[in-house]
Amino acid sequence: MSTSAISLGSQDQTPPQPHELLALFGGTFDPIHYGHLRPVEQLANEIHLDKVVLIPNNVPPHRPQPEASSAQRLAMLQLAIEGNPLFSIDQRELRRDTPSYTIETLETLRKEYGHAVPLAFIIGQDSLLSLHKWHRWEALLNFCHLVVMGRPGYAQELETPALQRWLDAHKVDDAGLLRQQPQGFIYLANTPLLDISATQIRQRRHAGDDCANFLPSSVERYIESQGLYRR
Ligand code: ATP
Repeated sequence: MSTSAISLGSQDQTPPQPHELLALFGGTFDPIHYGHLRPVEQLANEIHLDKVVLIPNNVPPHRPQPEASSAQRLAMLQLAIEGNPLFSIDQRELRRDTPSYTIETLETLRKEYGHAVPLAFIIGQDSLLSLHKWHRWEALLNFCHLVVMGRPGYAQELETPALQRWLDAHKVDDAGLLRQQPQGFIYLANTPLLDISATQIRQRRHAGDDCANFLPSSVERYIESQGLYRR
């Protein structure tokens, strides 16, 4: 396995140049799948990203614990991005033994990269819909832009008129604006809609079904070799 694309933490990352848009993509990745990879690759074309940093989380605050261990989820990420220079991995949340809150990760990243670098945090539509339940969610836009990828089966409108007004107040249609200021905008991307979730993959595995169309074969082989998602 090549380790060239894998960052072991902040000290291994080359700081982005001014006006380079650094994209961050957090998730549980239990496991990583094409619903993560394909839309993000398209997004990189759409808004001209050179780098996407995957940030696997440790103890997700709002969810049951992952079935795969942190080491296994990391190994699957490494296999999934092998040979793809778009992606790197930041392990800072995995190293924590307390819940990893996105806002706290963003605070540490801002300190490292400084205040001028535009940061974009990528989320799926389902995450946008539940964003108001995230720890200190209203402060997120003080540290980053939000870039939202559509996801089939999820509502377009936010839960309340007040939340929808918040979205409308920050939404921009021109992705170029994401480079004009370091944080504060929300961009709804035109990425392809893929009906794939980690839940669905775990359920298929539990039922003994194959997952060839849902994730890279190297990841599927790893899952098989580790006997993951079988209980
Ligand atoms: P689970 O089914 O276990 O909840 P998941 O498939 O949603 O997992 P996560 O690791 O929780 O995967 O997701 C990380 C991020 O990727 C979230 O912001 C989520 O909205 C986004 N995401 C996941 N799957 C898709 C998809 N098919 N299309 C667009 N975004 C997605």
